[in-house]
Amino acid sequence: MNRPAPIERNVADSPGTQVGEPVIVARNVTVGYKLHRERKMLTALRDISLTINKGEFVVLLGPSGCGKTTFINAISGIVLPWEGSIEVNGAPVTGPGPDRAMVFQDYALMPWRTVEANLRMPFEFQNLGLSKDEVDARIARYLELVDLKGFEKSFPYELSGGMKQRVGIARALATEPTILLADEPFAAIDAMTREAMQSELERIVMATGQTVVFITHSIDEAITLGDRIAVISRRPGRIKEVVDVNLPRPRFDGDVKSRPEYAKIRERIWDLVKAEALSGAHGE
Ligand code: ADP
Ligand code: MG
Repeated sequence: MNRPAPIERNVADSPGTQVGEPVIVARNVTVGYKLHRERKMLTALRDISLTINKGEFVVLLGPSGCGKTTFINAISGIVLPWEGSIEVNGAPVTGPGPDRAMVFQDYALMPWRTVEANLRMPFEFQNLGLSKDEVDARIARYLELVDLKGFEKSFPYELSGGMKQRVGIARALATEPTILLADEPFAAIDAMTREAMQSELERIVMATGQTVVFITHSIDEAITLGDRIAVISRRPGRIKEVVDVNLPRPRFDGDVKSRPEYAKIRERIWDLVKAEALSGAHGE
C-alpha cells in the first residue's frame, strides 16, 4: 500500500497536532478572495495549521462567514492558499483529486438522473480504472450501506431531504476516497431526520474507516459526531482552539448527551463561541 511518509512536526505551535498517521496537513494556511467590485482583497482564513490523522472525524465549527467552506475548499483543491500549504496523503494539494470527495448542504444531485445514475457520475468524471461490473457492484454496495436499496430507479424529486442526502453520501463514498469532506450536509434537513442522519453517518464512517472533515455551526452536532472540534473565529478565520471529544462510540446508541463529559465539552465550546455568537446576533 502507498502509505504517506510520516511528516515531521514543525507545527508544534498549532493547536491541532496529534500523534498518528497524518492524512491532511495544513501549515500556516492563509486564503483570501479578490473582491473585484470593491477593488480590494478579503482575507477569509489567516494562518491556519491543522493536522488530521487517518480515520479521524474532525469538525470545523464556527459562525457563518468565518471561513469553514473556504478551508474545506482549500483541502479539496477548489481554492488555493495565498500562503502556507496543504498536503493530502503526503502530496501538496494542487487541485481536486479522487482521494477527496465532497458532500454538499444542498445535495447537488442531478435532478434528471436516477439515484443510480447520480452515483455513477463520479466514475464518469474520473477514470478510476474500474470495469462497468465493478462500478455497478460499488453502486449497489454503497446504496445498501446508506439503506437505499430499492430506490435505484427513483429520481431525486421522489425522495425526502434525508434520502437525498443519503444519496449524496453514497455518491461521495462510492469512489472510496481517503477523505470525506462534508459542508453542512444536514443543515437543510429537519431536526428529527437530522439526528437519524447523524447516527447513520457515524455508523457508516465506523464501517468504512473514512477520514472526515465535517462543517457545522451546531455545537451539539459537533460534539455528537466529532473526535476533535476545531473552533474557528471570524474575520479573519482562525482556529481558536481544537477541543478533544473523548466520548465512546457509537454515540447514538448510548445516551451520550446525558454524560457529564458531554456537558463539560459543551460548556467549553460555548465559552469559545459565545462572544462571536452574540456579536452576530447584534447584526455585526
Ligand atoms: P463559512 O463557510 O464559515 O460561512 P466562507 O468560507 O463561505 O465561510 O466565507 C468566509 C469569508 O469569505 C466570508 O466573508 C465570505 O463572504 C468570503 N467569501 C467566500 N467565498 C467568496 C468568494 N468566492 N468571493 C469573495 N468572497 C468570498
Ligand atoms: Mg459555509
